[in-house]
Amino acid sequence: MTKIAIITGGSRGIGAATARLAAAAGYDICVNYAGDEAAAHKVAGDIEKLGRRAMPFQADVGDEAAVKAMFEEVDREFGPVTALVNNAGIVDLPQPVAEMTAARLQQMFATNILGCFLCAREAVLRMSTRYGGSGGAIVNLSSVAAVLGSPGQYVDYAASKGAIDAMTIGLAREVANEGVRVNAVRPGIIDTDIHASGGVPDRVAKLKDTIPMKRPGSAEEVAETIVWLMSDKASYCAGAIIDVTGGR
Ligand code: NAP
Repeated sequence: MTKIAIITGGSRGIGAATARLAAAAGYDICVNYAGDEAAAHKVAGDIEKLGRRAMPFQADVGDEAAVKAMFEEVDREFGPVTALVNNAGIVDLPQPVAEMTAARLQQMFATNILGCFLCAREAVLRMSTRYGGSGGAIVNLSSVAAVLGSPGQYVDYAASKGAIDAMTIGLAREVANEGVRVNAVRPGIIDTDIHASGGVPDRVAKLKDTIPMKRPGSAEEVAETIVWLMSDKASYCAGAIIDVTGGR
């Protein structure tokens, strides 16, 4: 079976590292992105250099019509998707819950929760034997924030990742007997642009001494776990949530 992956937020950070590693493992890849077209095309070029097919695709994961269009384009160009990495995610500026606007909360939950559900739904419709599919794997990106709660920083983000943990367990049990494995990776502090996007570019430097390993993780270290969960080597994992945190 041709291995075909959709990686949301595949243009930068953990998603881009996962796209490169999955291409090396033999996947053709749809590199989803929100706005950074140049970054998505660079990752696509790297995938093609590895001899695999690449499709950069702009779609806001919180937009149902855009998500459907992306899956339909992958159907047409590559064939049925066999792996989905629900990686696209955002943080926002540090703020107490008491000051969070509804607009902020809607944006956070649309990208981090609704996006994950919409993509998972489209993937299950194609992978599940119940709907005529031949199986597949879904890997969700949670965060150790789901456990820590991120007080004074972004409780909304932490809560969105708590939702991903619950969704991982629930959906995994719903489709485990239909050929679809659903699992999650729960990273700690990983050295990507997300911290600058959340207004704290020196977050990694500030917090690294609180990590038992005394260093941040790399996107590549998280990607290793994601690509393993995608693979048949993880054939008996369903509903697993794997911490990649340096012990945090
Ligand atoms: P990043 O470097 O900021 O990259 C985010 C990616 O998501 C980019 O490719 C971005 O696309 C895409 N994206 C953002 N909003 C989107 C939307 N609405 N629709 C489609 N794509 C969207 O982030 P990262 O650090 O690699 O994080 C990846 C995942 O790991 C996230 O779910 C994050 O919550 C989780 N995580 C990260 C850390 C960490 O310390 N880095 C820790 C725990 C969990 P553009 O390039 O077009 O903007």
